Amino acid sequence: MNIKFSPECLFCKIVTNELPSELLYEDDEIIVFKDINPQAPFHALLIPKAHISTLNDLEPEDVNMAGRLFLTAKYLAESHNLDGYRVAINTNEEGGQVVYHLHMHMLAGRQMGPSLG
Ligand code: AMP
Ligand code: ZN
Repeated sequence: MNIKFSPECLFCKIVTNELPSELLYEDDEIIVFKDINPQAPFHALLIPKAHISTLNDLEPEDVNMAGRLFLTAKYLAESHNLDGYRVAINTNEEGGQVVYHLHMHMLAGRQMGPSLG
């Protein structure tokens, strides 16, 4: 499979092992690793291997990968015995996005607050 990377992208470097990460899951399309600055006892980032900058850059041909992100969240919850959890995709500056490689946050292990913002 021919995966597109972006040379200056932090998460592309994690995908290609130029930067280390604590890997929780990998398949041909996505990887999951622990967030370096966890905001909950369990805080993982689920990302496509291919460089997609934001949710707005998702194309119809990415639909299988996008669905797989959600299914992988479910499997991680099962395998880590997580009762409840929250997923979030920050998009663009106003959405709180800092790293411009699409990623789904998955947080668990504590009671989530009512505020999402
Ligand atoms: P966002 O604000 O949605 O772009 O989130 C970026 C996330 O990436 C933050 O939660 C960071 O803690 C996390 N992060 C940044 N660098 C790394 C890294 N090298 N390994 C793991 N997580 C990282
Ligand atoms: Zn990237």
